[in-house]
Amino acid sequence: MQPAYAALLTVMTLAAAASAAAGEPATIQLDLGAHASAEAASAAEADIDWADADLADDARCTLGFAALELQQHLDRIFGDRQQAETQFPIRGPGAEVSGSRIVLGCPQVTVPPDVLRRAGLRPEELADLRPQAFRIRSAGDVLVIYGGDRTGALYGVYELLDRLGVRWFGPEEHNTHVPRRAWEGLPQLDVQVGPAFATRGFWAWEDRGNPEFFDWMARNRLNFWTAAEDNHPALKKRGLLLTCGGHLHQSRYLNPRDPYPYDYSEFDGGDDKPDDPYPHGDYLGDVNGDGVLSYCEAHPEWYGLRGGERSFNIHGDGGDNYCTSNPHATAELMKNIVVELSTGEWRDADSINFWMLDGGKWCECDECSMAGSGASATSARPSVRPPIATCC
Ligand SMILES: [Zn+2]
Repeated sequence: MQPAYAALLTVMTLAAAASAAAGEPATIQLDLGAHASAEAASAAEADIDWADADLADDARCTLGFAALELQQHLDRIFGDRQQAETQFPIRGPGAEVSGSRIVLGCPQVTVPPDVLRRAGLRPEELADLRPQAFRIRSAGDVLVIYGGDRTGALYGVYELLDRLGVRWFGPEEHNTHVPRRAWEGLPQLDVQVGPAFATRGFWAWEDRGNPEFFDWMARNRLNFWTAAEDNHPALKKRGLLLTCGGHLHQSRYLNPRDPYPYDYSEFDGGDDKPDDPYPHGDYLGDVNGDGVLSYCEAHPEWYGLRGGERSFNIHGDGGDNYCTSNPHATAELMKNIVVELSTGEWRDADSINFWMLDGGKWCECDECSMAGSGASATSARPSVRPPIATCC
């Protein structure tokens, strides 16, 4: 996804910078904390709370995965196929290294100051990196990939592989191009790259992905996918952002036929429910006689006025929008959405699409009419409904 990125500074020379150590052209180094290996750090994805304020465990998991991605691809490009062992070992930051080193870091996975110095990097310039952005700089036998966050470090690895000629045209192996090269030392790079758009990917509301597809997305620095997918930790590890929502909010969180969740004082039968936080409105009572007070029976005024009558026509993603000028209806809708986002199936979501009903008709009550047309509801609102334009 090169067009979405702006290279601010690029100097690249593929000339040899350092002689290769016999057997191990380069060592990948990073601080994985208590993890015994990059495999262990990468495999810890399911044990991590990806939503809490502790970013260190998230970062070690993603950078462990990034180190493995780098190792596997470097072996395919440069490796001696006669050897079963990797020629690009992954070690801690304090390990003695005889040949070149590629060091990974981000704010939570620190790079030793002497390594930064050897690569010609100052800590102050790295502190300004934005999320998803990264810096790659090499000097002699040291190359540092440093992300503004964990995802930036992962993207830095993919940038390096891209510059070495690797292409992921499609998720399948036969759509992956990995060139074969002789090791000639570290490429000499001074690169800073960041995304021009925060999200890049697909509006997918179903769990239609698979592991190969998610690898392909991350490798091409695509990051927008759906919370409807099952394996959230695997997606978070790869820097994918999960979205949710759509047209179904009113059906799911203000459905006229759902039971009213509060103890409405005029209704006999809700004593076991919480106190009603809303003022009484145009109470209808148990109109359908099913013994349950529904939202529309408790508060018909919350729903859209169409042709002089309140409409409870909210089915799936279509119908008549609720009365959006009613603050209590909006409060109840938002309360239920917040519960879903905090403890429900959307709790891992990074963003939400809030759309009204698909092609939904708007409420015609005086207050809603005063707010302007549906088209003007999100822009500057006129004080009165604008006159219908006539055309020649
Ligand atoms: Zn209204």
